Amino acid sequence: MPLPKFEYLSPKSLEEALQLLADRGEGTHLLAGGTDLLVKMAHGHLKPRAVIALKQIDALGGIRFDPGKGLFIGATALLDEVASHPDVKAHFPSVAYAAQQTANVQIRNMGTLAGNLCNAAPSADNAPVLTAMGAEAVIAGPKGERRVALDRFFKGPGQTVIEPGEILTAVHVPVIPSGFGTSYQHVSPRGKVDIAAVCVGAMVGMDGATCKEARIVLGAVAPVPMRAEKTEALVRGKALTPEILEKAGRQASEEARPISDMRAGAEYRKRMTAVLTGRALKQAAEAAAN
Ligand SMILES: Cc1cc2nc3c(=O)[nH]c(=O)nc-3n(C[C@H](O)[C@H](O)[C@H](O)COP(=O)(O)OP(=O)(O)OC[C@H]3O[C@@H](n4cnc5c(N)ncnc54)[C@H](O)[C@@H]3O)c2cc1C
Repeated sequence: MPLPKFEYLSPKSLEEALQLLADRGEGTHLLAGGTDLLVKMAHGHLKPRAVIALKQIDALGGIRFDPGKGLFIGATALLDEVASHPDVKAHFPSVAYAAQQTANVQIRNMGTLAGNLCNAAPSADNAPVLTAMGAEAVIAGPKGERRVALDRFFKGPGQTVIEPGEILTAVHVPVIPSGFGTSYQHVSPRGKVDIAAVCVGAMVGMDGATCKEARIVLGAVAPVPMRAEKTEALVRGKALTPEILEKAGRQASEEARPISDMRAGAEYRKRMTAVLTGRALKQAAEAAAN
C-alpha cells in the first residue's frame, strides 16, 4: 500500500526536533523505527502532514547503565539492542527478556523500546515489567524536562501523557534493590510474531520465604497496562506457597477487565491471567533469592 504524501524531517539535535514540533504543530508525528507508525499510515489510519524522524539525533541513542542510578534506555535504542545489551541482561534480565520476546528479529532491528511504550497498545510487551519495576518516562518539551512513572504514563489505547510538542527522550529503570526479583510472562496463541493475548510483569521483594513487597502489572486485559493492586495486597506479608500463588492468580483474573477480540476470548484471557500471574510471582521470587 502506498504511503500518503507527507513532509519528512530529520533533525540532528533534540532542540531542533522540539523546534520543528512547535513550528509544524498539529498533524506532525514522531518517527522512531516506524514499525507502528508506518503501518498505520500505509493502512490509511493516519495521515500526518509532517513526520519528524528521531534516529539522527545522537543524544537519543544508546543504553547507559550506572550502578547507582540504574538503566537509561535512549529513545532510539532498538529492541534488539535492549535484548542483547550485556548490562541489561546482567542487571535487568526481565527487561532484556521482554524486548527479546517482542515481535521477530526484523522488527526488533527496526523498532524501539520507546516506540513500543509511546504507541501505547494495551498488549505492548515492554510495558508490564518496566511498569512493575517503577520505570519512568523521561520527557522533553518546551518547558524543559519532566519524568512520569510508567504506571501514570498510559491513558488509553494509543494514548499517553505525552503532550503535543513533547518527545520521550529516554526510559529510566531504577536499580533492582537487593532481595528483589522480576519476571515477565506472556502468551500469544497465534504464534511468535503475533502480539500478546495476555502478558504479566512482576517485581517482588522477599524476606526469606515471605513476600514483603509486590508489584504486578497485567497487559492486554484492560485499556492500559494495569496494576493488580488487590493481588499485590493479597501476597504481601505471605509465604509464596503453591496455594497462595493459586489464590493470587484467581485474584488477578478477577481484577482483569479483558475484551474478546480476534486474538483471544475474554474468558481465555482471564484464565491465562491467573496462570501467568502465578508463574510471574514464582519466577520473580526465585530471582530475588539469587
Ligand atoms: C509484524 C509486527 C509484529 C509486531 N509484534 C509485536 C509484538 O510481538 N509485541 C509488541 O509489543 N509489539 C509488536 N509490534 C508493534 C511494534 O513493532 C512495536 O510497538 C515497536 O516497539 C514500535 O517501535 P517503533 O520504534 O517502530 O515505533 P514507531 O512506529 O516509530 O512509533 C510508534 C508510536 O510512538 C510515537 N513515538 C515514537 N517514538 C517517540 C518518542 N521518542 N517520543 C514520543 N512519541 C514517540 C510515534 O509517533 C508513534 O505514534 C509489531 C509490529 C509489527 C509490524
